[in-house]
Amino acid sequence: MHDVPTLDQIRRAPKVLLHDHLDGGVRPRTVLELAEQTGYDALPTSDVDETEKWFAAACEAGSLEEYLERFVHTVGVMQTPDAISRVAAECAEDLAADGVVYAEVRYAPELSTQRGLSLDEVVEAMLDGFRRGAAEAERAGHRIRVGVLLCAMVIFINRDQGYGLLRQLCDGCFVAAVLLLGAGVLRYVANQGAFDVLGYGLQSVFHLHVPGASIGNARDQETMETYRARKAKKRKSPAGMLFAGLVWLALSTVLLILFEVSA
Ligand SMILES: [Zn+2]
Repeated sequence: MHDVPTLDQIRRAPKVLLHDHLDGGVRPRTVLELAEQTGYDALPTSDVDETEKWFAAACEAGSLEEYLERFVHTVGVMQTPDAISRVAAECAEDLAADGVVYAEVRYAPELSTQRGLSLDEVVEAMLDGFRRGAAEAERAGHRIRVGVLLCAMVIFINRDQGYGLLRQLCDGCFVAAVLLLGAGVLRYVANQGAFDVLGYGLQSVFHLHVPGASIGNARDQETMETYRARKAKKRKSPAGMLFAGLVWLALSTVLLILFEVSA
C-alpha cells in the first residue's frame, strides 16, 4: 500500500459528485455524431481527435469567453429528445466508470428548446437518458445514482415577449399598489386592536427582562386597559393608504390593458 494513491485506486474509490454540468461533459465523438445526425454545422472539424483537442484547448486557454463559447456547440447538438437522452446516458456511464456512485448533474432545459422542444420534453429526455445510462453502468458492474438539478436563467424569461417599458411600469405600479393596500389593511386591522395583546405582551416581557428599562418608567406598571387607551389615541386612519393603493392599482390596470393592446 502506497501513501499516495495511484490513479487506478482513485478511479476505483467510490465518489460523490455534487456539481457537474450535463452540457460540459459531452464526448467529442458524440458531439460530432449528433452534429451529423441533427444537421448542426458550426463545428470547425469533423475529425474526432481534432475535436477533442479543440475542446481541451479552450479549457487551458485561460479565457473564460473562449471556454464558455464551446458550450454553444455542445448545447447546439442537444436539440432533439434522442440527442439529449444519449448525452445523459453517456454522462451516467462515464461518471460510473470513474467510480462516481452518486452524482447531481445540472442543466438548463431552456437551452434545448431552440428547435421547438418543450421544457417537459427536454426534462423527460434527460431523465430517460440517465435511467438508461445507470442501467447500462450497472450491467458493466458500476452502480450509480444520478439526480438532476434543473436550472432556470433569468435572462431567458419572456425573451420572446418584448418585456418592454410599458410592462415594467405596469409591474412597478402593481407592486406599489400591493404594498400600499397591504399596509393599509394591516393598519386597519391594528386599529381594531388585533395586535394589542401581542404588543402589550412584548412590552411586559421587555420590562421584565431588560434590567434598568423599568426604572422611572410609567409603562412598567401599565395595565392592558391603559395600554389600549394610550395606543387608541395614536391611531391613524388607513384611508389615505388604501386610497393611494387603489389609485396605483387602477394605474397598473390601465398600463396592463395598454400593454396587451400594443403586444
Ligand atoms: Zn458550475
